[in-house]
Amino acid sequence: MKFDLAYCLSLDDKLSIYDVRDLNFDETVAFDSAKEHFQCPNDACRSTFEASNELGTFNAKNVNYVRTPHFKNLPTTQHVAGCPYVSLKASVSGVETADGEVDDGREEHFPSELLLTRREYVRKPVTPAGAADMLRDDPVRVAADSGKESVGRESAPDKTSVFAHPVECFVSNFADKELLKRMPLKVGEHSAPYSSFFKKIEYLTDNKGLIYWGRIKKIEDFHSASFRIDFEDKVWFKKTDDSKKKPYPVSVYLNKKLIDNYRKRKAFLEEIKHAVDSDKALFCFFYGVTPELKQVPGKKNPEKPFEVFNANIENLDHFIIREAPGLE
Ligand SMILES: [Zn+2]
Repeated sequence: MKFDLAYCLSLDDKLSIYDVRDLNFDETVAFDSAKEHFQCPNDACRSTFEASNELGTFNAKNVNYVRTPHFKNLPTTQHVAGCPYVSLKASVSGVETADGEVDDGREEHFPSELLLTRREYVRKPVTPAGAADMLRDDPVRVAADSGKESVGRESAPDKTSVFAHPVECFVSNFADKELLKRMPLKVGEHSAPYSSFFKKIEYLTDNKGLIYWGRIKKIEDFHSASFRIDFEDKVWFKKTDDSKKKPYPVSVYLNKKLIDNYRKRKAFLEEIKHAVDSDKALFCFFYGVTPELKQVPGKKNPEKPFEVFNANIENLDHFIIREAPGLE
């Protein structure tokens, strides 16, 4: 098994690698995983060894990744006998490398729910030296701890508030259709197996409120003020006054205000600018809006509108553009 979580010393909480990525890119919090300390999520391990017994990260800070991010053992990492994480292969160098790792092919930990409210991370207050003994018997401290326990359960490993996590499950396990059919996913009120919760954009008229995805045909950059993403595949749709289905293009729009106010603005602009310049096949995943058939003014002849399925993205937390080699 791979690390599903790691204990983060400064937050006194267990985080997934996707939580770590989210914190790294969030401009409203001071967090840099390279300076943080991560330990085995197994409490027995943590209490046995010194705080210096740490784990490393892979793809924690890389905005545009292809290979599945994860925590990993360092050559120095120790585990107690029987720790489920003991067998994980250590990276020789202890730094993020692009090769030499075997056990990182795909995401094994499928969240059963994508929480639409962001998880809050509270940094552990710095305890003055010598105060630890006093605090140990302090009933307020004990009460606070037991309260925190229930918060911990809410953000249990089978739930996530980071969209990239279920997307990575889908992308990295795309070849294993049976697995994607078996694994359940809940978002909002809707529950479905991963295989059907992720809906190819050409079939978007089948059902509303899913995670739609498709290969990108073109990204139109309106001077970084806004972007339009055109999908490769068209939607075949029969209007009431038509006798048969006709193909319509699909696009989504990202507006300037949304981008400017985004807490991960820099990382987002890096992601989309990389995509605009990329010659690789790219895919877009989004949740929260369902494109609908609309009339837009024609480019050459504004008098003659054309019809397109489109939507404005409303929350960049639920929008991703990335490479996904297995989906090509
Ligand atoms: Zn351990």
